Amino acid sequence: AVFNFGSINIDYVYKVDHFVAPGETLSSDGYRAVLGGKGANQSIACAKAGAPTFHIGAIGALDAQMLTPMIDANVDLSLVSKLDDVASGHAIIQVTPDAENSIILFGGANQTLTSQHIDNALAKASVDDWVLLQNETNAIAQIIDSASEKGLKIAFNPAPMTNSIQSLPIDKIDLLVVNEIEAMQLTETASEHAAKVALKAQYPNTNVLLTLGKQGVMFLHDQKEIKVDAFKVDAKDTTAAGDTFIGYFLACYTTLENVESAMRTACAASAIAVTREGAAPSIPKMDEVSTFLSQ
Ligand code: ADP
Repeated sequence: AVFNFGSINIDYVYKVDHFVAPGETLSSDGYRAVLGGKGANQSIACAKAGAPTFHIGAIGALDAQMLTPMIDANVDLSLVSKLDDVASGHAIIQVTPDAENSIILFGGANQTLTSQHIDNALAKASVDDWVLLQNETNAIAQIIDSASEKGLKIAFNPAPMTNSIQSLPIDKIDLLVVNEIEAMQLTETASEHAAKVALKAQYPNTNVLLTLGKQGVMFLHDQKEIKVDAFKVDAKDTTAAGDTFIGYFLACYTTLENVESAMRTACAASAIAVTREGAAPSIPKMDEVSTFLSQ
C-alpha cells in the first residue's frame, strides 16, 4: 500500500479580463471551485492505477464535499482529519483570456499535521508499504525520520521547491522524483545535463526519477540510466502531468517492482492526462492506460 502524506486544496478559479490592480474591485464573469493540491492529485493517480492508497492530511470540517473525487477514485480517507476552526488549504486563482494566471495559496489545514496524526498513520503501515511525500504539508522531516525508523520505503517529490528542502535527510529517501526545474534548483545547476550529473553525485544511495515533460523521463542510480520517451499526444493542459506520473509510477513499481515497465505505464497515464483539461478529472484509470498501451 501507499501512505501519502499530502495536501488537499480547493482551487477557486476566477476568469478575469486582467489581474486585479491595487485598490481595484474587479468583477469576474466565470467561476469554478475544483479539488487541487499535489497530494490529492497523487493519491487519486495512485488509486486509479490500482494500488491500495491511504491519504493522510487534513481539511476544514465544513468542506467534506471537496473529497468526492478522492472517494470516487477509491482513496482511503480514514486518516484525513476534519478540523473545526481551520480553513481548508486553498488557492485563489485569477485567469486572464491569454491563460496567464496569478495565484494566492493558503496552506491552512495542510499545515496542521501533528505527531499523533503521523504516528497513527505509520502504525497502520507494514514493511513492504511506501510513504509518499510532497512539499505542501508541514512536518516533512519528521515524517521522513519516523518512516525510515520503521523501515518503510519513502518516495519524495520536493515540489514546490523551497530552501528548506536542502536541510532534509534526503539520504533516507528511496525514490526522489523531480522535474527539470526542481532538479536544477536542488543541485544548484543551470542545465539538465549538469543537474543529471549532480543528482547522481549528490544522492548516491537514492533512486532518482527526472521527468522531462514531453521528452519523457529518466531513471538515475549510480552508473545506471534508463530513459523512457514520452508518448506523442496533442497536449491541451499539462496541469497534474507530474502528479499523474508519480502516482502511476509508484503504484506500478510497488506491485511490479520493474522500473522500466512502471516508467512506461506512468508515461502513458500522464500522456492521456495532458490531452484533457483540469487536474483530478484528467487522470485516467488503469483500464484506459492499458488500452492506450496496447494500441
Ligand atoms: P511536471 O508536471 O511536474 O512539471 P513534467 O512536465 O516533467 O512534470 O511531466 C511529467 C511526465 O508527464 C513526463 O515525464 C511525461 O511522461 C508526461 N508529459 C508531460 N508533458 C507531456 C506532453 N506534452 N506530451 C506527452 N507526455 C507528457
